[in-house]
Formats: sequence, structure tokens, C-alpha cells
Amino acid sequence: MLKTDGLNAGAIYSEYRTDDARLTIELLKKASKMGAFPINYIKADEFIIKDDKVCGINCLDTINGDSFSLFSSIVVNATGPWVDDTLKNENNKLILSKGVHIVVPYKKFPLKQSVYFDAIDNRMIFAIPRNNTTYIGTTDTKYSLDKNNIKILKSEVKYLLESVNNYFSIILTIKDVVSSWSGLRPLIKEEGKKVTEISRKDEIFVSDNGIITIAGGKLTGYRKMAERVVDIVIKAKNHKSFNKCITSNIKLYKSENLNEIKKEIFSYLLKNQHSKDQVVLLYDIYGENVKEIIKISKTFKSFSKVNAIIISEFIYCFENEMCQKLLDFFSQRTGRVYFEIEKVSDQVQIIKEAYKKLKNISEKEFDLERVELKSYINSITTFI
Ligand SMILES: Cc1cc2nc3c(=O)[nH]c(=O)nc-3n(C[C@H](O)[C@H](O)[C@H](O)COP(=O)(O)OP(=O)(O)OC[C@H]3O[C@@H](n4cnc5c(N)ncnc54)[C@H](O)[C@@H]3O)c2cc1C
Repeated sequence: MLKTDGLNAGAIYSEYRTDDARLTIELLKKASKMGAFPINYIKADEFIIKDDKVCGINCLDTINGDSFSLFSSIVVNATGPWVDDTLKNENNKLILSKGVHIVVPYKKFPLKQSVYFDAIDNRMIFAIPRNNTTYIGTTDTKYSLDKNNIKILKSEVKYLLESVNNYFSIILTIKDVVSSWSGLRPLIKEEGKKVTEISRKDEIFVSDNGIITIAGGKLTGYRKMAERVVDIVIKAKNHKSFNKCITSNIKLYKSENLNEIKKEIFSYLLKNQHSKDQVVLLYDIYGENVKEIIKISKTFKSFSKVNAIIISEFIYCFENEMCQKLLDFFSQRTGRVYFEIEKVSDQVQIIKEAYKKLKNISEKEFDLERVELKSYINSITTFI
């Protein structure tokens, strides 16, 4: 699909796509199995300092409004773009760069593989096929507005679309954009540099009161970053029973016979009303855990096989992945608000009764969650 004018050659590289939310969730599930105690929707409100040393955090449960404290001799602050906010009194260490991705239907931009190419201002951007969509990203601009309410600008969408139109023999317009998302890169400040020039390296700062802060970096380097933090924690504990960080030996997935499990999953679902695309999507999201979802679905005999799987996906996420809200399920757990947005409204209806029962909530409470989901969808489909 590339315009051939001026095209001399190409090169292929194969590492290009990660489901970042899924990676984080699987990592948390693994950590939990190994003794960590993850908590969700809990805000670290302020550090507890005693004799000039940190010894815990005052927390707020943002769902029920309860406050409580956690005590620990070591506290690590890994709050990404919010690192300066959590540290409060210290000098700002970060500069934030906003990155926007847009999603178009695959049929409008039917790439066979991802392409990394020059944008209209000569920065590099990419287009990546994913299931029935292709997504394009990203922008890279300095950001200093509300971190919790990032609006996507028409000019940002147009920049990405023009860059595609310039390079490929297709014409995409803003009407083709079905979804989008944006994030903030926490970059370590480097005086006198533009955001696009600042290195994406990570850094660890240890405050005088003992708070260990890590910021910056890339998702691809997460294990190395974790290793460095854990080794500092172990050193600070200065205790023989703590060994060096073992992250390099930990596999996120347990099964040796993954290929057989995959075959089993595909064969069962294809025989039970699912299209190949649907099965690929499910396997992309949950991997071998689709097996667990199928097991749950067998208890929903009065539903079509496809609907039973959707309900079971939600139950699986609720029981195993701290999925607290409708929005959690359709955004971070499954990515459907980005990659299958046209199906979300029907799927909300399909899971409704099971959802209310499992969470023991009323119709009114369910409607409030539905409004929250709608408002999020509105924010990723409206550009200002
Ligand atoms: C647009 C964009 C594109 C990127 N592309 C790539 C890429 O192609 N490759 C790559 O390797 N990396 C990429 N990155 C970088 C990657 O996403 C980050 O390195 C990674 O997310 C950093 O992880 P983190 O855990 O430090 O921070 P985050 O992922 O930001 O997590 C911080 C967490 O802290 C929570 N938090 C904040 N304040 C509090 C509080 N007071 N109490 C409790 N929790 C709190 C937040 O809710 C959040 O969940 C990209 C980033 C962006 C924004």
C-alpha cells in the first residue's frame, strides 16, 4: 500500500505490538501468585513520615471513600506521570509528553503488517494492524494540562491522518476514525531540550526521607527497571533472607504445552459458533486462560455459545483480575472500546443480568456504570 514514488527499498523488523494493559494485568496476577498483594482503585494520598523517614502511606479507597494506612519500612513510588504529584514538596523531575493513537477500521487501511514511517514533520510514526482495525500513532508533544482528563485534539488526529495519506495510496479522513486513546510519557527533564529530543531513559531517585522513586523508561524495559528497584530495596533492607531480584527467570505463562492448549481452544470455539476472527481476538487477549472462560461458559446453557463466552469473560475478569467496573471490562481488560467499539453497546446488554447478579447491584447502579462507560467512549470518539 506504500506509494511507490521515491521508494527504493524496505526492511523488516518483527517486534512491534504489545497489549500493554494485558501485560500489566498478567504481571500482577503472577506477582499475586508469588505472594504480592495487589490492590485496585486505591489512591496513595500521602506518605507517612516519622523522624524524617518514610514509614507508610495514607490511602483512600476511591470506590467506597474509606481511608486507611499501610505501613512499611520501604516505600517505592512508581506512579508514572504522577510521580511529581505524589512526591508533593520536591522539585518537579518530569516533563510530560502527550501521545495520541487513532483507530480506523481494517478495511479502510488494510495493512498486512505494521509499517514504521516518516510523519509530515519527519518524526517517525507507525501504523499497526490489529484484528479488524488498524491503529496509527503517535504524536509527541509537551503536555501540562489535566493529567486525569486528556482531550484529543482535531489537529492531532489530522496530523496522523495526513501523514498516512502522504505515505500510502489511500485517503483517510477524520470520519474514518472510530476510536482513539492517548497517554502521557513521563520524561526525565533535560534543560534546553524539546520533548521529542529528550531521552526515554528511566531514572531512580532516593529522597532524603527514604522514598524510592522510579520514573521514565519504556515498557519494553520494565523487567530491567524492576530489577534495579528491587536490588535497591534488598540493599536497603540489608537482610540475608532477601536474595537478588529473580525477574529474569520468571515466565508469565505456566504451560509447557501451550500449542496443544491453543489447538484445543480454537477447535472448541470454532465448532461452537465462533468465527476465526473472534477466536483470534479472544486468544490474543487471554491466551491459555480462554480455557477457564470456556469452562465457565458451559454453565450458561440457555445462552447462545457466543453470548455465553462474553458473559464468562466478564465473570473471569471479575473473579481473577480485580475488574471493578463496566468500564474496566471494556477498556483495560479487553480493549474493546478501542478495537471492537461497534460491539460494545450490544455486549453491555448481553452481560447486564449476570453483571448485576455477580456484583449484587441494582438497575440504577448498573445504569450509573453504563453512563460512565458511555462518557468514556464519548471522550475517545470526540475530538476538539
Ligand atoms: C503514547 C505513549 C506511547 C508509548 N509507546 C511505547 C512503546 O512503543 N514502547 C515502549 O516500550 N514504551 C512505550 N511507552 C512508555 C510506556 O507506556 C511507559 O514506560 C510505561 O507505561 C511506564 O510504566 P509505569 O508503571 O512507570 O507508569 P504508568 O504505566 O503510567 O503507571 C503508573 C500508575 O500509577 C497510578 N497512580 C498514579 N498516582 C497514584 C496514586 N497517588 N496512588 C495510586 N496509584 C497511582 C496510575 O493510575 C498508573 O496506573 C509509551 C507511552 C506513551 C504515553
